[in-house]
Amino acid sequence: MAAIELTGLSTVYPNGVRAVDELDLSIHDGEFFALLGPSGCGKTTLLRTVAGLEQAASGTVALGERDVTRTEAGKRGVAMVFQDYALFPHMTVAQNIAYPLRVRRASKQAQRDAAESTSAGLGLAGLLERRPGQLSGGQQQRVALARAMAMSAEVLLLDEPLSNLDARLRLEARTFLKRLQRDLGLTTVFVTHDQAEALALADRIAVMAEGRIRQLGTPKDVFGRPADTFVANFIGSTPMNLLTGAVHDGFLEVAGARLPPPPGPALADGAKVVVGIRPEYLQPAAEGITGTVSIVETLGVTSLVTLECPGEVLVGLTVPEHEEPAVGTAMTVAPAPGRLLVYDAETTGLLA
Ligand code: ATP
Repeated sequence: MAAIELTGLSTVYPNGVRAVDELDLSIHDGEFFALLGPSGCGKTTLLRTVAGLEQAASGTVALGERDVTRTEAGKRGVAMVFQDYALFPHMTVAQNIAYPLRVRRASKQAQRDAAESTSAGLGLAGLLERRPGQLSGGQQQRVALARAMAMSAEVLLLDEPLSNLDARLRLEARTFLKRLQRDLGLTTVFVTHDQAEALALADRIAVMAEGRIRQLGTPKDVFGRPADTFVANFIGSTPMNLLTGAVHDGFLEVAGARLPPPPGPALADGAKVVVGIRPEYLQPAAEGITGTVSIVETLGVTSLVTLECPGEVLVGLTVPEHEEPAVGTAMTVAPAPGRLLVYDAETTGLLA
């Protein structure tokens, strides 16, 4: 097992696209780490650069004590599982799993042993003689994981490991992956564009945009205190409400309301701000932002309410189904105590 240390790392494609841009990142030994971000932000390129499948244009990649920046992929001690699993269709499950050992010219017996021992823990024991085409998506994923493990790598890299599974299998595979990683304690980096997956699985998350890290932290950090409005917008199953406003006489003036700012250093009078309130932290209140109910969506036990407020639309207010307001009625809401965030309207960074 090894820590991963990236220093000033850039990866530039021949067409000039700088997919990873001067990136610094330390991933701890044994950590389950998520790279999260929108399509095209450079997640896969970063993973491929750590694996040695792309060359760094500048900067370094270190695994444990070793600088592997110029080491070829096969000698880095890194196993990568690709989004489409990249199994060999003409080989059996056993041959697929043992493939890394065959490449290293291990004995037939060693290959068989590896296939048997890695497959047992992954629920593949009865499937060793099948070919990938005769397996479900979830089983194929497990074969790809078993093959990665047969490499006895120090670092496991997973590129969107759950994206090819249907919703139900995804949840099952998610739990399975988490348990497996915990049992093995293998330093694991997984790429996802699914924020819920990253929050559920990772010890820490790097949220990426345009080849750089916008925020690095635990799931609680990035969910509870997004560092800027980009992260705030990206994390959460319903996006955060981001309301444009200004500081006036010590209050936040947004959506026709005056809200008390969070405790802490005073905000500059006249400052233009964006006030962030997660839908989950909005609640009906006597004083706060008043709007007109425009949409009510029934979810079963609860209902989701959309409010049209002066100059803004507030989404995602959750009320018990039996307290559902009628469309067209007025409603006043406020953030739960301590749950209001203030961003600088210009820099988009978190102020308070
Ligand atoms: P996705 O979630 O869609 O897979 P990603 O975050 O993994 O996206 P990358 O695939 O790393 O992003 O792509 C980062 C940038 O590099 C994008 O602008 C992409 O168009 C570009 N890119 C990726 N692969 C190549 C390539 N082989 N040649 C040129 N440009 C590339």
